[in-house]
Amino acid sequence: MSLLSLTNVSAFYDASQALFKVNLHIDEGKVVALMGRNGMGKTTTIKALCRMLPTAGGEIVFDGQDLRRLPSHKAARLGLGLVPEGRRCFPNLTVEENLIVAARPGHWDFARVSRLFPRLEERKSQSAASLSGGEQQMLAIGRALMTNPRLLILDEATEGLAPLVRQEIWAVIATLKKETGLSILVVDKSLKELSGIADDAVVLNRGETVWQGAMDALSADITDRYLGV
Ligand code: ATP
Repeated sequence: MSLLSLTNVSAFYDASQALFKVNLHIDEGKVVALMGRNGMGKTTTIKALCRMLPTAGGEIVFDGQDLRRLPSHKAARLGLGLVPEGRRCFPNLTVEENLIVAARPGHWDFARVSRLFPRLEERKSQSAASLSGGEQQMLAIGRALMTNPRLLILDEATEGLAPLVRQEIWAVIATLKKETGLSILVVDKSLKELSGIADDAVVLNRGETVWQGAMDALSADITDRYLGV
């Protein structure tokens, strides 16, 4: 069943057009990789989806609802759980407070998030500012889960982290996929890791979807042309 469809979405930063024709489809329970070289429009697509940037054209339908008329806080309430680039948390609140303030009713609560991230449980009384980069990323993911989203959106969740911590984050994404069937949109630079976890892929080039389909159908020709360095 379709959870999200972006059809021919366009968007501008002032007079500068960043998205031209973005098409992106996510079926319920699927993990979808959004890929493209630097500056091709991945984060902008997420901003348009989460209504943090107005769209100039096209359609965004989430869970049967037209998102274009909704402000970002209302779109979030429909079940968009964003883990933004730069993992924004409240630095002066404790780990536990950061999680509790994000809570909305549903499967995910403080106990379940703590089981998923035992390190957050260990550090629950510490301020978010005192956490390592990897722990802050775990907290950002935990906060998004506490909203009990229909779609979890991870924008460069492993960026700048040490290899072992990256592996921990990928393992958590795999657990979420396997044990909860949560729908996930993931932006990351590691094709290898994405190949191991994503069901489908969308490739952007200069603000336009140039390929979408099953992850295992992504050819070397497409990766060379649009994802190579
Ligand atoms: P990266 O992998 O580097 O994060 P990306 O694929 O997420 O790249 P975007 O950040 O969406 O790319 O950028 C798409 C285009 O929009 C780029 O040309 C970028 O320079 C431009 N852009 C991004 N943010 C802004 C902004 N706040 N104001 C103006 N232009 C912007």
